[in-house]
Amino acid sequence: MSDLSLELRGIEKVYNQGQTGEIRVLRGVDLSLSKGEAVALVAPSGAGKSTLLHIAGLLDQPDSGEVLIAGEAAQDLSDARRTAIRRADVGFVYQFHHLLPEFTAEENIILPQLANGTSRAEARDRAKHLLSLVGIEARASHRPAALSGGEQQRVAFCRALANQPRILLADEPTGNLDPETSDRVFAALMELVRQTGLTALIATHNMELAARMDRVLRLDAGQLVPA
Ligand code: ADP
Repeated sequence: MSDLSLELRGIEKVYNQGQTGEIRVLRGVDLSLSKGEAVALVAPSGAGKSTLLHIAGLLDQPDSGEVLIAGEAAQDLSDARRTAIRRADVGFVYQFHHLLPEFTAEENIILPQLANGTSRAEARDRAKHLLSLVGIEARASHRPAALSGGEQQRVAFCRALANQPRILLADEPTGNLDPETSDRVFAALMELVRQTGLTALIATHNMELAARMDRVLRLDAGQLVPA
Protein backbone atom coordinates (compact mmCIF):
# COMPACT_ATOMS: atom_id res chain seq x y z
CA MET A 1 0.00 0.00 0.00
CA SER A 2 1.15 3.52 -0.79
CA ASP A 3 2.57 5.68 2.00
CA LEU A 4 0.90 8.63 0.31
CA SER A 5 -2.66 9.07 1.54
CA LEU A 6 -3.69 11.60 -1.08
CA GLU A 7 -2.17 12.68 -4.36
CA LEU A 8 -3.41 15.22 -6.86
CA ARG A 9 -1.70 15.35 -10.25
CA GLY A 10 -2.26 18.15 -12.72
CA ILE A 11 -5.79 18.91 -11.59
CA GLU A 12 -7.66 21.35 -13.86
CA LYS A 13 -11.15 22.71 -13.27
CA VAL A 14 -13.04 25.18 -15.40
CA TYR A 15 -16.49 26.57 -14.58
CA ASN A 16 -18.77 28.03 -17.18
CA GLN A 17 -20.43 31.07 -15.63
CA GLY A 18 -22.79 31.90 -18.48
CA GLN A 19 -22.45 35.49 -19.64
CA THR A 20 -19.20 36.12 -17.78
CA GLY A 21 -17.70 33.18 -19.67
CA GLU A 22 -15.36 30.50 -18.42
CA ILE A 23 -13.39 30.70 -15.22
CA ARG A 24 -10.31 28.47 -14.88
CA VAL A 25 -10.26 27.88 -11.14
CA LEU A 26 -7.62 25.14 -10.92
CA ARG A 27 -4.75 25.21 -13.42
CA GLY A 28 -2.60 22.19 -12.77
CA VAL A 29 -2.76 21.48 -9.05
CA ASP A 30 -0.17 18.98 -7.76
CA LEU A 31 -0.18 17.74 -4.19
CA SER A 32 1.21 14.78 -2.23
CA LEU A 33 0.11 14.22 1.33
CA SER A 34 1.78 11.56 3.46
CA LYS A 35 0.13 9.57 6.20
CA GLY A 36 -0.09 11.58 9.42
CA GLU A 37 0.58 14.93 7.79
CA ALA A 38 -1.51 18.03 8.55
CA VAL A 39 -1.40 20.64 5.78
CA ALA A 40 -3.01 24.06 5.69
CA LEU A 41 -4.56 25.41 2.50
CA VAL A 42 -4.71 29.19 2.45
CA ALA A 43 -6.04 31.55 -0.19
CA PRO A 44 -8.48 34.42 -0.44
CA SER A 45 -12.17 33.75 -0.87
CA GLY A 46 -13.03 32.67 -4.40
CA ALA A 47 -9.55 31.27 -5.13
CA GLY A 48 -10.83 27.72 -5.43
CA LYS A 49 -10.28 26.10 -2.02
CA SER A 50 -13.71 24.48 -1.86
CA THR A 51 -13.42 23.31 -5.45
CA LEU A 52 -10.07 21.70 -4.64
CA LEU A 53 -11.36 20.02 -1.47
CA HIS A 54 -14.43 18.67 -3.28
CA ILE A 55 -12.29 17.18 -6.01
CA ALA A 56 -9.84 15.72 -3.47
CA GLY A 57 -12.78 14.17 -1.59
CA LEU A 58 -14.30 12.68 -4.77
CA LEU A 59 -17.40 14.86 -4.43
CA ASP A 60 -16.64 16.49 -7.77
CA GLN A 61 -14.69 15.50 -10.88
CA PRO A 62 -11.78 17.48 -12.34
CA ASP A 63 -11.75 18.34 -16.06
CA SER A 64 -8.34 16.76 -16.24
CA GLY A 65 -5.72 15.37 -13.89
CA GLU A 66 -5.72 12.53 -11.41
CA VAL A 67 -6.80 12.02 -7.81
CA LEU A 68 -5.20 9.07 -6.03
CA ILE A 69 -6.40 7.91 -2.64
CA ALA A 70 -3.94 5.54 -0.98
CA GLY A 71 -2.44 4.94 -4.42
CA GLU A 72 -5.76 4.14 -6.09
CA ALA A 73 -6.61 6.35 -9.09
CA ALA A 74 -10.17 7.54 -8.60
CA GLN A 75 -11.08 8.25 -12.22
CA ASP A 76 -10.73 4.59 -13.17
CA LEU A 77 -13.28 3.49 -10.59
CA SER A 78 -16.99 2.82 -10.84
CA ASP A 79 -19.38 5.26 -9.15
CA ALA A 80 -20.12 2.62 -6.53
CA ARG A 81 -16.44 2.21 -5.68
CA ARG A 82 -15.92 5.98 -5.53
CA THR A 83 -18.83 6.25 -3.11
CA ALA A 84 -17.40 3.44 -1.00
CA ILE A 85 -13.98 5.14 -0.84
CA ARG A 86 -15.59 8.46 0.02
CA ARG A 87 -17.54 6.85 2.83
CA ALA A 88 -14.71 4.78 4.27
CA ASP A 89 -11.57 6.82 3.58
CA VAL A 90 -12.56 10.48 3.60
CA GLY A 91 -14.02 12.60 6.39
CA PHE A 92 -15.39 16.08 5.64
CA VAL A 93 -15.87 19.06 7.92
CA TYR A 94 -17.53 22.25 6.66
CA GLN A 95 -17.67 25.77 8.02
CA PHE A 96 -21.19 25.11 9.26
CA HIS A 97 -21.51 21.87 11.16
CA HIS A 98 -24.56 20.35 9.39
CA LEU A 99 -25.35 18.14 12.38
CA LEU A 100 -28.77 16.48 12.41
CA PRO A 101 -30.81 18.66 14.79
CA GLU A 102 -33.18 15.95 16.04
CA PHE A 103 -30.36 13.66 17.20
CA THR A 104 -27.96 14.00 20.13
CA ALA A 105 -24.24 14.66 19.72
CA GLU A 106 -23.50 10.99 20.32
CA GLU A 107 -26.17 9.83 17.86
CA ASN A 108 -24.78 12.15 15.19
CA ILE A 109 -21.48 10.27 15.50
CA ILE A 110 -23.12 6.84 15.73
CA LEU A 111 -25.32 7.13 12.63
CA PRO A 112 -22.57 7.21 9.96
CA GLN A 113 -21.02 4.16 11.60
CA LEU A 114 -24.28 2.21 11.44
CA ALA A 115 -24.53 3.16 7.76
CA ASN A 116 -21.06 1.70 7.34
CA GLY A 117 -22.02 -1.62 8.97
CA THR A 118 -20.60 -1.10 12.47
CA SER A 119 -22.55 -2.60 15.38
CA ARG A 120 -24.43 -0.18 17.62
CA ALA A 121 -22.38 -1.08 20.70
CA GLU A 122 -19.08 -0.54 18.91
CA ALA A 123 -20.35 2.68 17.32
CA ARG A 124 -21.39 4.02 20.73
CA ASP A 125 -17.99 3.21 22.24
CA ARG A 126 -16.22 4.97 19.40
CA ALA A 127 -18.51 8.01 19.66
CA LYS A 128 -17.74 8.29 23.38
CA HIS A 129 -14.02 7.91 22.74
CA LEU A 130 -14.00 10.62 20.05
CA LEU A 131 -16.05 13.00 22.20
CA SER A 132 -13.60 12.51 25.06
CA LEU A 133 -10.64 13.23 22.76
CA VAL A 134 -12.11 16.66 22.03
CA GLY A 135 -13.10 17.21 25.67
CA ILE A 136 -16.90 17.20 25.41
CA GLU A 137 -17.91 13.72 26.57
CA ALA A 138 -20.20 15.37 29.14
CA ARG A 139 -22.26 16.82 26.25
CA ALA A 140 -22.91 13.46 24.56
CA SER A 141 -26.65 13.41 25.19
CA HIS A 142 -27.31 17.01 24.12
CA ARG A 143 -28.86 17.93 20.82
CA PRO A 144 -26.96 20.42 18.63
CA ALA A 145 -29.23 23.34 19.59
CA ALA A 146 -28.17 22.90 23.22
CA LEU A 147 -24.46 23.08 22.36
CA SER A 148 -22.27 26.13 21.79
CA GLY A 149 -20.89 26.83 18.30
CA GLY A 150 -17.49 25.49 19.31
CA GLU A 151 -19.02 22.33 20.78
CA GLN A 152 -21.11 21.77 17.66
CA GLN A 153 -18.03 22.01 15.49
CA ARG A 154 -16.16 19.56 17.73
CA VAL A 155 -19.02 17.10 17.30
CA ALA A 156 -18.73 17.65 13.53
CA PHE A 157 -15.03 16.68 13.71
CA CYS A 158 -15.93 13.53 15.64
CA ARG A 159 -18.60 12.67 13.08
CA ALA A 160 -16.11 13.16 10.23
CA LEU A 161 -13.77 10.70 11.95
CA ALA A 162 -16.47 8.23 12.99
CA ASN A 163 -15.59 5.67 10.31
CA GLN A 164 -11.84 6.05 10.84
CA PRO A 165 -11.05 7.65 7.49
CA ARG A 166 -7.45 7.98 6.38
CA ILE A 167 -8.03 11.55 5.15
CA LEU A 168 -9.74 14.52 6.76
CA LEU A 169 -10.74 17.41 4.51
CA ALA A 170 -11.92 20.56 6.25
CA ASP A 171 -13.28 23.71 4.62
CA GLU A 172 -12.72 26.65 6.97
CA PRO A 173 -13.78 24.59 9.98
CA THR A 174 -13.30 27.45 12.43
CA GLY A 175 -14.44 30.22 10.09
CA ASN A 176 -17.75 30.65 11.88
CA LEU A 177 -16.30 30.89 15.41
CA ASP A 178 -14.97 33.77 17.49
CA PRO A 179 -11.14 33.89 17.75
CA GLU A 180 -10.86 32.33 21.21
CA THR A 181 -13.28 29.48 20.46
CA SER A 182 -11.63 29.01 17.08
CA ASP A 183 -8.29 28.58 18.82
CA ARG A 184 -9.62 25.95 21.22
CA VAL A 185 -11.53 24.07 18.54
CA PHE A 186 -8.49 24.06 16.30
CA ALA A 187 -6.36 22.66 19.14
CA ALA A 188 -8.94 19.88 19.55
CA LEU A 189 -8.79 19.17 15.83
CA MET A 190 -4.99 18.91 15.85
CA GLU A 191 -5.20 16.60 18.88
CA LEU A 192 -7.53 14.34 16.90
CA VAL A 193 -5.19 14.40 13.91
CA ARG A 194 -2.17 13.51 16.08
CA GLN A 195 -3.97 10.82 18.07
CA THR A 196 -5.49 9.07 15.10
CA GLY A 197 -2.55 9.48 12.67
CA LEU A 198 -4.77 10.64 9.87
CA THR A 199 -3.84 12.96 7.01
CA ALA A 200 -5.49 16.36 7.09
CA LEU A 201 -5.95 19.08 4.50
CA ILE A 202 -7.52 22.10 6.14
CA ALA A 203 -8.56 25.28 4.34
CA THR A 204 -8.36 28.34 6.55
CA HIS A 205 -8.12 32.11 6.36
CA ASN A 206 -6.34 32.17 9.68
CA MET A 207 -2.55 32.31 9.17
CA GLU A 208 -1.86 31.80 12.86
CA LEU A 209 -3.74 28.51 12.85
CA ALA A 210 -2.18 27.55 9.52
CA ALA A 211 1.30 28.03 10.98
CA ARG A 212 0.54 25.35 13.59
CA MET A 213 0.24 22.68 10.89
CA ASP A 214 3.11 20.74 9.32
CA ARG A 215 3.04 22.67 6.04
CA VAL A 216 1.21 25.64 4.61
CA LEU A 217 0.24 25.73 0.94
CA ARG A 218 -1.25 28.67 -0.90
CA LEU A 219 -3.60 28.47 -3.84
CA ASP A 220 -2.27 31.08 -6.21
CA ALA A 221 -3.59 31.62 -9.76
CA GLY A 222 -4.97 28.09 -9.75
CA GLN A 223 -1.81 26.35 -8.56
CA LEU A 224 -0.55 25.21 -5.17
CA VAL A 225 2.66 26.84 -3.96
CA PRO A 226 4.43 26.83 -0.56
CA ALA A 227 3.21 29.80 1.49
P1 ADP B 1 -13.10 29.35 -2.26
O1 ADP B 1 -13.49 28.11 -1.57
O2 ADP B 1 -11.60 29.59 -2.27
O3 ADP B 1 -13.83 30.56 -1.76
P2 ADP B 1 -14.53 28.23 -4.56
O4 ADP B 1 -13.86 26.96 -4.89
O5 ADP B 1 -15.80 28.19 -3.79
O6 ADP B 1 -13.46 29.21 -3.83
O7 ADP B 1 -14.81 29.03 -5.91
C1 ADP B 1 -13.79 29.37 -6.83
C2 ADP B 1 -14.40 30.12 -8.01
O8 ADP B 1 -15.20 29.24 -8.79
C3 ADP B 1 -15.30 31.27 -7.63
O9 ADP B 1 -15.09 32.32 -8.55
C4 ADP B 1 -16.69 30.70 -7.78
O10 ADP B 1 -17.61 31.71 -8.12
C5 ADP B 1 -16.53 29.71 -8.91
N1 ADP B 1 -17.43 28.57 -8.80
C6 ADP B 1 -17.46 27.66 -7.78
N2 ADP B 1 -18.40 26.70 -7.99
C7 ADP B 1 -18.99 27.02 -9.18
C8 ADP B 1 -20.03 26.42 -9.97
N3 ADP B 1 -20.65 25.30 -9.58
N4 ADP B 1 -20.37 27.03 -11.15
C9 ADP B 1 -19.75 28.14 -11.57
N5 ADP B 1 -18.76 28.75 -10.88
C10 ADP B 1 -18.38 28.21 -9.70
